[in-house]
Amino acid sequence: MLVRQRIAAAPAAFARGATKSFSSASSSSSSSARLFETRPSPSQLLSKQRSTFARRAYATEAPVPAPAAPKKKRFRFLRWTYRLTVLGLLGGTGYLGYSIYLLRHPAEQIEPDPSKKTLVILGSGWGSVSLLKKLDTENYNVVVISPRNFFLFTPLLPSCTTGLIEHRSIMEPIRNILRHKKATVKYYEAEATKIDYEKRLVYISDDSEIKGDVSHTVVPFDMLVVGVGAENATFGIPGVREHSCFLKEVGDAQKIRKRIMDCVETASFKDQTEEEVKRLLHMVVVGGGPTGVEFAGELQDFFEEDLRKWIPGIQDNFHVTLVEALPNILPMFSKQLIEYTESSFKEEKITIRTKTMVKNVTDKYIEAEVTKPDGTKELEKIPYGLLVWATGNAVRDVVKDLMSQIPAQKNSRRGLAVNEFLVVNGTENIWAVGDCAITNYAPTAQVASQEGAFLARLFNTMAKTEALEDELKKLSVAQQEAKNDEARNEIFAEIKERQRQLRRTKQIGPFQYSHQGSLAYIGKERAVADISWVSGNIASGGTMTYLFWRSAYLSMVFSARNRILVATDWIKAKIFGRDVSRE
Ligand code: FAD
Ligand code: NAD
Repeated sequence: MLVRQRIAAAPAAFARGATKSFSSASSSSSSSARLFETRPSPSQLLSKQRSTFARRAYATEAPVPAPAAPKKKRFRFLRWTYRLTVLGLLGGTGYLGYSIYLLRHPAEQIEPDPSKKTLVILGSGWGSVSLLKKLDTENYNVVVISPRNFFLFTPLLPSCTTGLIEHRSIMEPIRNILRHKKATVKYYEAEATKIDYEKRLVYISDDSEIKGDVSHTVVPFDMLVVGVGAENATFGIPGVREHSCFLKEVGDAQKIRKRIMDCVETASFKDQTEEEVKRLLHMVVVGGGPTGVEFAGELQDFFEEDLRKWIPGIQDNFHVTLVEALPNILPMFSKQLIEYTESSFKEEKITIRTKTMVKNVTDKYIEAEVTKPDGTKELEKIPYGLLVWATGNAVRDVVKDLMSQIPAQKNSRRGLAVNEFLVVNGTENIWAVGDCAITNYAPTAQVASQEGAFLARLFNTMAKTEALEDELKKLSVAQQEAKNDEARNEIFAEIKERQRQLRRTKQIGPFQYSHQGSLAYIGKERAVADISWVSGNIASGGTMTYLFWRSAYLSMVFSARNRILVATDWIKAKIFGRDVSRE
């Protein structure tokens, strides 16, 4: 907003400057004209004579035309708009070029002091990467452990399921991120299988396809940040893991993309019964939270904009249904946005089945308990071709195991209970960020990234504090050994200055989340937004909100490379449509 205001203010400022310089230029030209009149040069005399002669000759043939309208004035606004646009484009290109240059040319890194503390960070998601971005890595021996060697911009993952965005466009290699840090950071592509709190050890396992002689080992830590996120909640419902697709990782999006096309092609197979065609083309999404809603919207878009065009045979049977156990979808949004989304889905022909709780999943249908308007319950079989399961988060095994080692975590069910400095309750040297930590906030990317940034500030402060305290110790020894009063006073002044710095450094308050708002895409180039504004919320939905949603996410993706790739994908899809090949 701030940037927008500045941009909006710029033309006005330029316009004011332009008027001033223009009028002063015209007044100086008129004064110079007067000067010439008093002392004309021979060539000017000649041209004046010529023009006078020409005017007289013309006057005999036709009346003298009225002086032309002041063209310059009329187009001044357009001219300045054009100049500002060119300037803006040049500036933007320069900035982009410079950021690409920086991305491609990382500086030499320093080796951190081995005597410093070892800080182990688990995970490469929103929480951990936001911590890494702001952490002064020269203060610690930093080790990152994650089975995923990239950061994933999850808000645009639903767009990858239909090929609107290619998955690589929203991935940022962790190596790129770490290579740009001041001091070297070690990275191990592995899963943390166990955290031994007492011994301060993390057990790690390389689960990639290629393994060396060592694929299991331990990493000792002085400080540990757990940012492993969460896994998909299935609530132990039979058949979910076997038959449905989740939507959390890149692999999930790729699997969904393949399955959509597989269902479509199988439904078009020779001699398929009508009932089977209907089943295959029934796309069921379970979970009316933002993940389910965004995916349903993207899928319907894919059908409307591409599938029905290239495979017209499926258009009467392709159908998207969103199943939700609660009385309404998107419970975290305001009532008017819930209603807007529901009416928009109706218009898009997406069926919403609320008060429908899935109890069992087989390979061809789901069994759901439907609550009727009179309050009675009924079990219903709903056949499907594609089933996407988006019912929220569950705690990862490694986190459950850590919780079981700490008595203070006994009553925590949904993840690691942390204090206001994100320290895991019952521990001294373990912090938790993101979806695996339980705070008063929803498990979102926004919360995870603010927590990560807070921890970076905290760790930077802790390192500075330790350095200042060390210096103070040395200074007080030096003061005692000082030879005379003058030297003693000099050291005393220095001690006072360091103490002042220490007080300032230590002034870091507890973590405070600042909610910027919630955004969700709902299909048909519409989005809903609940944006925090001064002392309240602004709820908006529609095409303008969709443009805001796009520009917000485009500005938030990790790097300039991601930004260009995502923008190119959008343009590509607009021009050529989405790719309907199966792979
Ligand atoms: P994650 O980002 O999930 O990262 C966890 C990391 O830990 C990963 O790198 C993983 O590989 C690693 N890991 C897992 N297990 C282990 C292990 N045993 N050892 C070591 N590392 C491990 N939130 C929003 O605010 N806005 C949105 O628009 C939005 N859209 C979303 C769309 C989708 C489709 C999804 C699924 C989520 C969306 N979210 C959104 C929620 C958001 O993605 C999460 O809240 C956020 O990713 C949490 O960050 P995290 O760092 O805790 O976990
Ligand atoms: P969610 O927890 O927000 O929603 C899951 C939904 O599934 C719930 O409404 C629940 O009632 C329903 N459900 C659970 N079990 C069911 C069953 N057996 N049958 C039918 N319905 C069932 O999950 P999510 O959408 O995956 O989101 C996870 C987190 O990520 C949330 O905190 C969310 O805010 C965040 N997120 C945010 C965005 C965004 O801001 N655009 C997008 C995606 C995710």
